This record gives sequence, C-alpha cells and structure tokens, in this order.
Amino acid sequence: MTDPAANADLDPLAEERDPGPAVPSLETIVSLSKRRGFIFSSSEIYGGINAVWDYGPLGVELKNNVKRAWWRTMVQERDEIVGLDAGILMAPQVWVASGHVGSFSDPLVECATCRRRYRLDELPGAESLSATDLADPGIVERLGLRCPNDDGPLSPPRRFNLMLKTFLGPVEDEAAIVYLRPETAQGIYVNFRNVRETSRKKIPFGIAQIGKAFRNEISPGNFVFRMREFEQMEMQYFVRPGEAAAAAFEEWLPRRRAWYERYGVTPARLRLREHAPDELAHYAKKAVDVEYRFPFGWKELEGVHNRGDFDLSRHQEASGENLEYFDPATEEHFIPWVVETSAGADRATFTFLIDAYREEEVRGETRVSLALHPELAPYKVAVLPLLKKRPEIVELCHRIKADLQRDVMAVYDDTASIGKLYRRQDEIGTPWCITVDVDSLEDGAVTIRDRDSMAQERIPVAGVKRAILDRLEAVRAG
Ligand code: ATP
Repeated sequence: MTDPAANADLDPLAEERDPGPAVPSLETIVSLSKRRGFIFSSSEIYGGINAVWDYGPLGVELKNNVKRAWWRTMVQERDEIVGLDAGILMAPQVWVASGHVGSFSDPLVECATCRRRYRLDELPGAESLSATDLADPGIVERLGLRCPNDDGPLSPPRRFNLMLKTFLGPVEDEAAIVYLRPETAQGIYVNFRNVRETSRKKIPFGIAQIGKAFRNEISPGNFVFRMREFEQMEMQYFVRPGEAAAAAFEEWLPRRRAWYERYGVTPARLRLREHAPDELAHYAKKAVDVEYRFPFGWKELEGVHNRGDFDLSRHQEASGENLEYFDPATEEHFIPWVVETSAGADRATFTFLIDAYREEEVRGETRVSLALHPELAPYKVAVLPLLKKRPEIVELCHRIKADLQRDVMAVYDDTASIGKLYRRQDEIGTPWCITVDVDSLEDGAVTIRDRDSMAQERIPVAGVKRAILDRLEAVRAG
C-alpha cells in the first residue's frame, strides 16, 4: 500500500524518480537461477509445491554469504548486540500473547465461480487501499472488483490467519496444536531475560537471530519474493522507553539502508516508505520499510519498527514472569521498548542477485555477468587451465586451487575453451579467475583476471593466495 505523502516526508524525490529495474523481466533471473543452479522449484519432480523454493549449489553459497554479511554487520561488528538461535516450534501461548492468533491475517476474497482466492490488496485496482478500506465489507462491490481469472463475482473480504499449524506429540488433537513460527522475533522476546542475565548486557542492547519462518500466504509469487517457507534476519534492540526508542529508530533506519548499499545494491533502487497510521501493525508505534525497485515494482525489502513495550508487556502479563529491566544507575524498574529491524534472507539474496545482473556487448557477443560484491559471490576464484592436455598445467591448477580452498570457495573447470570458461564464471559472479598457461611452467607466473573490468595481470604462483585475500580485504574495508 503506497502512501505518497508519507514517502515524500522521508525522501522528497522518491515519487518522481524511478530508476527502473535492474532487469526488465523477472524471467531473466528465474531462468539464470535454474540454469546455473542457484534456485530450484521445491519437489520439482512431483510438479513442485507452491511458494517453496530450494537453493542449489550456487544459491546456498550466495544465501549463506548474505546471512554471514548480515551477522557480521549486526553482531560481529557491534559490542552491544548478541546472537540467538531459538526453536521454530514454541509454546502455543506465545502466539496468543503476541497477538498473532487473533490478528495475524490478510484480507481474503474468493471467486464464486472458479473458487480462486486472492489477497484483496493485491487485486488490480485495490493495491493502494487504506487499511480502513481493506476492512470494509462492502469494498468489493464499491470498487466493482471482479475475479482476474474468469471475471466472476468476488466475495466480501474475510480475515485469513497466516499461521501454519502442526501437531506436537503422538496425539493429533486440539491440545497438541503448535504453530510453525511466522516470525523469528518472538523467540527473542521470550528469551529476553535469559540473554540479558547471561550476557550481562545493559540497555541499549540488541539480540539478533537468523532463522526459518512460515506463513500460509494467500497469494505467494514473484519467485522467491513471497514464499510460504522463508528465512528472516531480525534484530530486536532494547532501549529506555519513549524518546530513546524514537532516537534508536532514527539511527537504525539509515544503517539498515546503508547495509544494502555496502553490499552492492544500487542506491537509486532503494527508498524508504513510512506506514500510514491506519496501516501500522497491531504492535507498531512507527514503521518504515526499506523498499527496492523490483522488476514488478517498489516492494518491501525490510521493515524497521518501533514496537514500544508491546511484546515484553504482553509476555509478562501472559506468562506471569517478571520481564522488567532494572537500571542500577537510576534505580528504576521498567519494561524496555523495542526497535526492530526485520529483513528477509531470501528477499535480500534475491535483491542482490537481481541488482548484480549485467548484460553488455563484448566483441560482438553478449556478455552476461553478475557484479556481486565479492563477499557475496558463491565462488571467490576459479582456477582454469589454458591447455587441459598438458598434465603439468592441470597439476599446477589443482595445487593452486587446493591452497586457495583452505581459505575461500574456489573451483577448477576445464570443460570448455578459456573464453567460454570466463563467460561461465562471469555469469555466476566469480570475481577473479586464475589462468595457468604454458609460460606458467617456465616463469612460475599465472594470469589473474578481474570479472568486472576483464583486466588481466601476471602474478607469481606463490603470490596467488595473497593476491586473492588482499583483494577480498580491500573490498571488505571499502
Ligand atoms: P508483506 O507486507 O510483504 O506481506 P510484511 O510486512 O508482513 O510483508 P514483515 O512481517 O515485516 O513483512 O517481515 C519482515 C521481512 O520478512 C520482510 O521485509 C521480508 O523481507 C520478509 N518476508 C516476510 N514475508 C515473507 C515471505 N512470505 N516470503 C519471503 N520473505 C518474507
């Protein structure tokens, strides 16, 4: 739901400038992902399962690197933030107290003839409705909305709860129902006291977590943009109530936008969008989305929320446990407020993939490359023989690769001519290629080729690992 007024507040030019997407069609990314082994449809041999995707050999490297980059920025480089890995299954009372059982729902409409179901705010003509409109039972009639599939009549909207359920233990009855967590945040709140006591942190401090979440989305789609099983990267920052929370919010919002830029997303394809008051989630005092210009429009990449004391208060009340913080300096007891940064690991991975895509003409041929930040690239280096018929060349390649592999992901390939081998590595984002040729056997030097500039340089074999590690260090610093 777009609120131009709110956008204008945060970024006066946001509405005027549309940089356009990095790729005109999503299909380009979907087919590259499948062809090169980044992302596959889940259970494909059985026809797939809607909105679940599997990461192939290159995809898992990319996504792990995205998660590592997030962890580095959010935990490793920060003294006041610690990590957590809570269970996917939690006591069912958690979801009652958090408000999810009561109100974690989307407005659903159903076609009377074809029985297809849609999320109301994703129907053509209803994308910009306010929350008040979305809750209006007469809205379908008022706007004359029809089924996009067969033009059939649509039902009035009803709320559809997005939580997936399963049974815990051998008896499948009501009492055994548990939920697959729809967000990782609650695992952090219920561990707030454990973490604070064991890590001896004083506010402001944060707890970060990466993990799976599940949502029975009504209309999933756009590849891995909206899935039913996905991963979140969330950080909850505990602060003094009121002003301190507002100030922490204003610090975290630009930091989170800067993170995407640090790892290579084009700044013009990022913008901020503030939620209108009637759009705010039940827990939120303020919410701003970091949005990315996807091929299918500006969409949420991450949410930054001021959640007040909603979560800890609710859990204190429902559990009967004291979740207050004692500030020894002021001798006050209070429930901290929370500023949350909530990102999707899959959505971020997808964004880095889309934004890195390049096509250019090189000597009459189209060169496709992924200009991924080297930290995110699945392989950091490929070692390639110019002549695979010469055993000494192949042997030297393997020695160089084995040495590199102790520190970074490295790959050897000899299944095509050197030109093709370079193109293949360009297409999967490998930042550097090392080529061993006949001269290497004489002069003990090899060629290092840069993915983006295609520049080539001769370096001694003994200096290959240092050259790669120095280049990685340079991009990490800068
Ligand atoms: P939307 O309005 O798109 O449904 P949301 O506002 O419900 O998203 P949050 O609950 O704030 O999303 O979730 C935080 C982040 O988790 C999102 O910014 C997104 O990156 C990720 N995320 C949420 N739902 C999905 C999903 N179904 N598939 C993939 N990632 C998701």
